[in-house]
Amino acid sequence: MRQRGKLEYGGHAAPQRTCVGCRVRTAKSELLRLVQVEDQVVPDLRGQLPGRGASLHPALSCLELAERRRAFPRAFRVPGPLDVSRVRAHLEGEPRNVM
Ligand SMILES: [Zn+2]
Repeated sequence: MRQRGKLEYGGHAAPQRTCVGCRVRTAKSELLRLVQVEDQVVPDLRGQLPGRGASLHPALSCLELAERRRAFPRAFRVPGPLDVSRVRAHLEGEPRNVM
């Protein structure tokens, strides 16, 4: 799949995103895409939900960092706090979240 005019990374174009928790740039495929639905942050498991997304390592430690840094309201450009309980539930129920 060809990205429109993106930088190429050493020959293979692997899109990267910055984790909103630890701020480490990582291949998009290794990050969980999150979207905002009203006052909640929800995991976009199929990568199909519309709107502005935020990327997070699928790790509770990164979720906690993001919460502490108030990264979600900033990422989604909203003033108020956002409920991340669905993201937390997803990560807690995910057996492969050990980094
Ligand atoms: Zn992270």
